[in-house]
Amino acid sequence: MLRIILLSLLITSIAPIVYAQPDLTYYMPDGVTFHPSVPTPKSIIGHEVGEWHVTHDRLVQYMYALDKASDRVSLEVTGHTYEGRPLLLLTITSPTNHERIENIRQQHLALSDPGSSATPDIKNMPAVFYIGFSIHGNEASGVNAGLLAAYYLAAAQGPEIENYLSNTVILFDPSYNPDGMQRFSGWVNARKSIMTSADPNDAEHNEAWPGGRFNHYWFDLNRDWLVAQHPESRARVKSFQRWRPNVLTDHHEMGANSTFFFQPGVPARMHPLTPEKNLELTKQIGTYHAKALDDIGSFYFTQEGYDDFYYGKGSTFPDVQGSIGILFEQASSRGHAQESINGVLTFPFTIRNQFVTALSSLKAVNAMREDLLSYQRQFYRDAISEAAKDPVKAYVFGLPKDDIRAYHLAEVISRQAIDVFKPASDVSQNGNSFPAHSSYVVNLNQRQYRLIKSMFEKRTSFKDSLFYDISSWTLPLAFGVNFEPLRSVPAVGEKVVDPTMPKGKRIGEKSDYAYVFACDGYYTPRAMYRLLSHGIRIKVANDPFFHTDGTRFDRGSILIPVAAQDKNADQIEFLIDEIVNKDGIDVYAFKTGLDYRGVSLGSSAFVPVKKPSIAMLVGDGISATDAGEIWHLLDTRFSIPVTLLPTNVLDRASISRYPTIIMPATSGSPGLSEATREKLKSWTQQGGTIIGFESALTWLNNAGLGKFEMRKEDDKKPTPARPYADIDEYTGAQETSGAIFEAQADLTHPLLYGYTQPKLALFKSNNLFMEKSTGAYSNPIVYTAAPLLSGYISKENYANAKQASMAGVSAIGQGRVIGFTDNLCFRAFWFGTNQIFMNAIFYGPMINAASTR
Ligand SMILES: [Zn+2]
Repeated sequence: MLRIILLSLLITSIAPIVYAQPDLTYYMPDGVTFHPSVPTPKSIIGHEVGEWHVTHDRLVQYMYALDKASDRVSLEVTGHTYEGRPLLLLTITSPTNHERIENIRQQHLALSDPGSSATPDIKNMPAVFYIGFSIHGNEASGVNAGLLAAYYLAAAQGPEIENYLSNTVILFDPSYNPDGMQRFSGWVNARKSIMTSADPNDAEHNEAWPGGRFNHYWFDLNRDWLVAQHPESRARVKSFQRWRPNVLTDHHEMGANSTFFFQPGVPARMHPLTPEKNLELTKQIGTYHAKALDDIGSFYFTQEGYDDFYYGKGSTFPDVQGSIGILFEQASSRGHAQESINGVLTFPFTIRNQFVTALSSLKAVNAMREDLLSYQRQFYRDAISEAAKDPVKAYVFGLPKDDIRAYHLAEVISRQAIDVFKPASDVSQNGNSFPAHSSYVVNLNQRQYRLIKSMFEKRTSFKDSLFYDISSWTLPLAFGVNFEPLRSVPAVGEKVVDPTMPKGKRIGEKSDYAYVFACDGYYTPRAMYRLLSHGIRIKVANDPFFHTDGTRFDRGSILIPVAAQDKNADQIEFLIDEIVNKDGIDVYAFKTGLDYRGVSLGSSAFVPVKKPSIAMLVGDGISATDAGEIWHLLDTRFSIPVTLLPTNVLDRASISRYPTIIMPATSGSPGLSEATREKLKSWTQQGGTIIGFESALTWLNNAGLGKFEMRKEDDKKPTPARPYADIDEYTGAQETSGAIFEAQADLTHPLLYGYTQPKLALFKSNNLFMEKSTGAYSNPIVYTAAPLLSGYISKENYANAKQASMAGVSAIGQGRVIGFTDNLCFRAFWFGTNQIFMNAIFYGPMINAASTR
């Protein structure tokens, strides 16, 4: 019977037909009975699984219903998304285990702590299995299979399930990305016909920009596990570290013409810090998936694709923490059915593959329970012995002038159950000084040794040259802070738990004359906007000056005159205190404008700063993730409003109200009409500022809006003959999927205000290398002669990278077009280059025409 339904789902004609809607018997294993008091999904969500795409609100409703009906299930809300949706975690295990769940957790944690891991009795303790779905919201078979898995776990009867539940604590995460899932389910359900359309051109299969893959701010949450910059990841990582599961699963989708994928993936693309034993266990778990899929006639592949390299991905993150991460990828029907090279792929068929592999994972965890627990114990014992052999004993990091970026890095590290300390006294190493108050120390002699290594290491040689994602993520470089490996652990002070944001201080009494703050604090742009949005007139210093107490203020420092404002001295003082307390900035009160060591406060070197009014192009032709990073930065970090201007609205919008237009990296080519290009050109000529990133520079060049000459690969060189079979590997190896480069910066240029060190670490994930301008003042940021700090780049591309220019400014009439070849806001954790972008917003219009290209 099941076989017949399956065939009817797969083999169908091309013409739209009504697909038979399977009921629960299609999905569930044969011969299992279910407790009648546990509600079926349909009884709560109102439709059969796979008939419609479940929406997040109904999914939540069902999980609450299971919590109520079953003593195997206990539900908690671990957090909320940006859009206020609850993040749920269900703990599913036998009622007996539930009675002593905290005890089980403590015992389990002891196992991964080498100091106490000898005590727990592996033979008699449950394994911990974290199961989660659809972190990409439009890869919906996972989240819909979750309804079935939750029902099965709560309601199935008999010795098999009883055995699973007494030997396993299941942490069940029904939706990794509720906001994206809701967006996607709304889209497909609203376009579903009774006469199901399997035509890939149908609106149902073609989501509007930005699609449901991402979270609210258009971030790919499956790149955020390590740095956890979003509420979804923070809640999830907290649960992970609270339990340290043995296995974590991550159910995804891929193109409709594919089949099904489960890990290991390509063995050579595993991160070297992951032990070989992890691969062995992953392969062994794979045999359970293969059996389950063989049994229902589904095809799959496993060693031919994907990688296990970046620890920020859900299926790789566990691998550096004594756990096994498993990636599943199911060919996507996207909507309710879609034509494919394997016939029509129906939504229920995709859900069923995800469901059976969720169960095969559970089966594997049970069968391999003792092996998995021993592996976890051994993993951490080995980590400690590796730490003992490592000549590096600790890392110290910090930045004397900006304690905020170091604080945010400490936050990221400590969130991953890593001990971070303040040094007991100042540390100095290799000419870098680390003041005790603003620096942090991470001792390597701790259980998370390998994870710490992955955060601090620089790596430039690799077994394989293909990367599914970035090849490097050295965190201190990302945060733009100094760091040094130490040969011995310095004396440490307090342990940093839930670090709190440092406050600034006010130096001097309330002033009737002026206040000044330096611009090297991370939240300088927020402080500036705080003042500007209250109508306070502020000026930026283009020359250094001094306070009478001898404090030097560099270019970019902000002057707030007290007189000649629409607010009185008390109101201004109130705002100054906000800057001190909320933005972590030191503000100096000035009683006089005179100090002969530098310019006076009335000098023309102080230039008024205008309140920014920003539009950013979004929509078709624009990279959603790049736009999302900028939106998130302005909105959540700096509290600066931005109009998200769709490319198709730009055609008819009056843009004179925006002095600044941001053009994120393009995706494809934004289809702007000739008239719109002319509109942008005349707007720029009249003084507008365009800030363009990465591939947008090519578009700006083509539109006559910029002069950013790009280096070409030397195409005159004869191409050596290569075997046909090497095509994919060779072209793949030419991709720069994400590496870190060093550049030399001109700190006197307005784009670099706030930077105190001439060397910058830049993140690059493209092959765009800009020629240096011949102008004497026109190359504010230039790659060094040997710029690779960490990560993979091909020999060919590396030759192009050397001494390439990263930033350029073109003058068009009164306006400025500022171009950056690299991403300055990468994934919300590249704190180190954010201020360059913010300087372009505040100071772009005042960049001297003599420095343009
Ligand atoms: Zn995915």
